[in-house]
Amino acid sequence: MAACRKGKDLTRSADFDDALDSFPAKAEESLDPKDWEAFRAEAHRGLDMMIDYLRDARQRKVWQPAPAEVRAEFRTPLPQQGKPLGELLDTFANSMLPYANGNTHPLFMGWVHGGGTPVGMVAEMLAAGLNSNCGGRDHIAIDVEREITLWLAEALDFPRDSSGIFVTGSSMANMVALLVARTDALGESVRKDGLRQTERQLVGYASIEAHACIERAFEMAGVGAAFLRRLPVDAKRQMDVAALRAAITEDRAAGFEPFLVVGSAGTVNTGAIDDLAALADLCAAEDLWFHVDGAFGALCVLSPELKPLVNGLERADSVALDFHKWLQVPYDAGFFICRHPELHRQTFMSTAAYLARAPRGLAAADIWPCDLGPDLSRGFRALKTWFTFQTFGAVRLGATLAQTCHVARHLEALIRRSSIFELSAEVKLNIVCFSVKGDATGEINREIVMDLHESGVAAPSTTRLGGRPVIRAAIVNHRTQTKDMETFVAAAEACAVRILARRAAPVAP
Ligand SMILES: *Cc1c(COP(=O)(O)O)cnc(C)c1O
Repeated sequence: MAACRKGKDLTRSADFDDALDSFPAKAEESLDPKDWEAFRAEAHRGLDMMIDYLRDARQRKVWQPAPAEVRAEFRTPLPQQGKPLGELLDTFANSMLPYANGNTHPLFMGWVHGGGTPVGMVAEMLAAGLNSNCGGRDHIAIDVEREITLWLAEALDFPRDSSGIFVTGSSMANMVALLVARTDALGESVRKDGLRQTERQLVGYASIEAHACIERAFEMAGVGAAFLRRLPVDAKRQMDVAALRAAITEDRAAGFEPFLVVGSAGTVNTGAIDDLAALADLCAAEDLWFHVDGAFGALCVLSPELKPLVNGLERADSVALDFHKWLQVPYDAGFFICRHPELHRQTFMSTAAYLARAPRGLAAADIWPCDLGPDLSRGFRALKTWFTFQTFGAVRLGATLAQTCHVARHLEALIRRSSIFELSAEVKLNIVCFSVKGDATGEINREIVMDLHESGVAAPSTTRLGGRPVIRAAIVNHRTQTKDMETFVAAAEACAVRILARRAAPVAP
């Protein structure tokens, strides 16, 4: 464009008209389909494909690696021209669907993954169609997100005016908690001054069983991982509260500023739950922020059977949890709730001019979600959560949580009866850790898990307990049944027998 020479004032020059003229007149086109009916047919095919996929979850392998030739399909140059939707749906069906993560499958028990639901899938589609930006402004999606906060406050026995926000996952929710606790300790000025202006170094506390994201939050927030004290646990893998009390006293005497205790409701290793009531008492006495990482365990409040396990949770200052794990909402749907809405807002609210609130119109409404977290543009995560609660109701969802714990109990019983395996930790909730008897290094446990993954029969994962890898099955998926545990243990035993036989065989000369 010759007319765009640097320094030229286009608005007052005849060149301006030339500049416009230099754009050839062209029919203006949106990216919407030209033939809506053809699009509708293809879109329905996509929906049907996914309904079948979920209906037939049990019939597939849990997981299989993508072959090299399939991976190669995803190493192409940037496409310059478009392809028909139908062709892309075929690629999706042939080259993506068979090689997915596998967590929709009933025998997926690795890490802590939710299984998703068909209704959650439909809600995701509806949300994508609306394409709401839930950073703020006055539109109904913001009301839906507020309603989830209200529901959660009700379930957790939190005050009705608690503030809450959807984030990617509990990693981010725990980070948000740390930042709000930091505001509580140092005042809003910490946002401007940072941590160098403070007299005393902040220190926080969590058990050695706390999730790794707590330490990462300390790193990312600039407090420093060295200032997260990792406290020992007792035989039940609960934080040693006496050790916590002693550490706080010691840190104060040494000139540090204790500010935050992170309790775990459902540790990722074994599902252990800290003594939350004792931690609440101690935090109240010591004037410390009491945050609970309840990524999955906080949802125990939905089940009358499980709720007593998280007694004391209702006294937390804040809670992090994931709807995408035990509640089966499709990824991602992490949440942070806080009983001090003002401190929460003070931690994140921005005064940027383009975010100014208007007395009326679309820019009205006082608190926007962007005042409560690090994100500005954000999707409508609340909708799939709303559909999940509305479709099933809290009672049924609570029963599903209890069901996964019953399935875990059955697995525990099978392991107790096994001649090959033994339990590696107490089963508190829905996580069962076990090991081949006498596998001192845990090498056989690791081999078994890899073999199981490759067989496609079951997908547990490993964790380290007592310094060695053990097999870990987290029953999170609502599709997992008692009978699946028989299949799982039989397959795991068969793997163990093969591996042990291989090891015992004399090495060929
Ligand atoms: C999964 C998990 C996290 C991390 O949550 P993401 O949603 O994966 O970010 C934190 N704490 C516990 C106890 C978890 O189980």
